[in-house]
Amino acid sequence: MASRTRVVRALRPIAAEARAATALGRWSPASRCFATSATRLLAPSPPRRAKLTTETYPSLKRDERFAQLTEEHVAYFKEVLGSSGSAVIDGVTADAEADLEPFNEDWMHKYKGQCRLVLKPGSTEEVSKILRYCNEKKLAVVPQGGNTGLVGGSVPVFDEIVINMSRMNKIHSFDEVSGSLVADAGCILEVVDGFLAQKGHIFPLDLGAKGSCHIGGNLATNAGGLRLIRYGSLHGSVLGIEAVLPDGTIMNDLGTLRKNNTGYDLKQLHIGAEGTIGIITKVSIQCPQRSSAVNVAFFGLESFEKVQLAFREAKSQLSEILSAFELMDGKSQNLVQRVRSGKKPLEDDHPFYCLIETSGSNGEHDYAKLEAFLEDVMTKEIISDGVVAQDETQLKSLWSWREGIPECLGHWGGTYKYDVSIPIREMYDLVDDVSAKMEEAGLVGETDAHPVVGVVGYGHMGDSNLHLNVAVRRYEEAVEKVLEPYVFEWIAKRSGSISAEHGLGIAKKNFIGYSRDDATIGLMKQIKQLYDPWHMHGHGLGHSRLERSENRKLMDADERPQNGIMNPYKYI
Ligand SMILES: Cc1cc2nc3c(=O)[nH]c(=O)nc-3n(C[C@H](O)[C@H](O)[C@H](O)COP(=O)(O)OP(=O)(O)OC[C@H]3O[C@@H](n4cnc5c(N)ncnc54)[C@H](O)[C@@H]3O)c2cc1C
Repeated sequence: MASRTRVVRALRPIAAEARAATALGRWSPASRCFATSATRLLAPSPPRRAKLTTETYPSLKRDERFAQLTEEHVAYFKEVLGSSGSAVIDGVTADAEADLEPFNEDWMHKYKGQCRLVLKPGSTEEVSKILRYCNEKKLAVVPQGGNTGLVGGSVPVFDEIVINMSRMNKIHSFDEVSGSLVADAGCILEVVDGFLAQKGHIFPLDLGAKGSCHIGGNLATNAGGLRLIRYGSLHGSVLGIEAVLPDGTIMNDLGTLRKNNTGYDLKQLHIGAEGTIGIITKVSIQCPQRSSAVNVAFFGLESFEKVQLAFREAKSQLSEILSAFELMDGKSQNLVQRVRSGKKPLEDDHPFYCLIETSGSNGEHDYAKLEAFLEDVMTKEIISDGVVAQDETQLKSLWSWREGIPECLGHWGGTYKYDVSIPIREMYDLVDDVSAKMEEAGLVGETDAHPVVGVVGYGHMGDSNLHLNVAVRRYEEAVEKVLEPYVFEWIAKRSGSISAEHGLGIAKKNFIGYSRDDATIGLMKQIKQLYDPWHMHGHGLGHSRLERSENRKLMDADERPQNGIMNPYKYI
């Protein structure tokens, strides 16, 4: 039962205090807003090593039609990029294992490749020269941004060359009237957002990995993040891109116009393509005005039914100022607390928690609206307890209980992650069903004999996007067997999506059929062929065009690697 008295105690004094502070001039809307970057409260977890992806998945085989890297190849790349500095990490002609490791291993310590060469181009022309050469020499590549991806797409499987975009990190222009920004793909999201903050604007995407991920990586994965409910998908806010295609062609579609209906909108193909049809080198994006007043409330609820009621009320009562509605179950918050020290935002335990953010232009008005909403949902006993942030430190601290979940869950050894879209009514049933299956299989427990630490659910409630996460002490086949294909079948039965925002990568490549029909997958394959034409066995629409291409002249059909040079072991 919701305890109204306690909720009132938790919320009202804070609200009263805030009003008093405002009256005294100690508080102003501006002082409680702007950044929402969560503070990192964690001690670093102990260093872990991933197993080679090829050991975990021995059925994966290197396509032997790809060339092996030679000294001659490396000499060419050094000539293009210059041998000084860190533009080339060369493990072909020298021992560079330690330097290569961060580029070979993913954020979850689940996938590890065997790349011996990392290239960091400094310009679009350099990217073009690299890809043209790789295409000619049959060298496979993996584009890499901040390497924060969660589906194993950003690291090699075998010895693919990593093309890391971190040196392409300049902001080129910002139009203060229209809000259009043009920047290199290798700019770090948080840096770009910091730049925009000074101009009174905001990047229309925010996520927990903002301190490391690149805006090019964000586009390549079509990242959704924490405020999609407010700013929409990148498919809507990206105005243009510059990309280098697998054969080295530079595609300049870097317009800053909001409207441009002149033929197919090809930039959209690169958004979410996960580096399979080209490398995004520059981005033009519409950046909204930054809200001058941001409020955050955090509350506990006793059931998922009540979470849905709270969401409905929030949409109706906070409407235009609602900028985030995030869900966390009690199990995820308990695990976060086990990893970090410090008090949870609310005194008692609750089965569910929600974080609401409002962003508007009038602090007093927005706060009054939020307060009225909270009082209403308390009176109706929809929420059980709650707090509202009073300053930026509290705001960041509340956000950290949501944004810190992925990092904390990895603390014991690893996390199996399923980022799914499910019709909202049934969204949380997946967590209950998977928990039951894990218990049944005897895999969950407190001791090292049990691989699973816990099964939790959290995510972007506002977008019907659940993150089902299984925190484990080690990645183990027995756990994966319980999860797959069970989770994908569960989602397909409800017409959900097996990847809401993280993409396919290597993790979901073989399961795309659960969310897309054969005709759609067939068209995707034709698009891949068209852009990255090693994958061609002389059939279909692509054939006559490809016949004219340079690749065709270079080798016979059976000499061609199966799936192009770009991210060949992933996606489709
Ligand atoms: C703590 C944490 C929180 C996260 N929260 C969210 C979230 O809320 N929402 C969400 O959607 N994701 C989230 N992610 C996942 C991840 O941060 C995003 O997918 C992000 O967009 C990846 O960007 P990146 O620069 O790190 O790309 P990488 O991980 O380096 O690469 C991702 C994919 O894009 C390709 N790629 C990278 N750069 C380019 C380029 N310039 N051109 C072409 N292809 C390229 C790579 O080949 C790879 O396939 C989170 C990750 C972490 C670790």
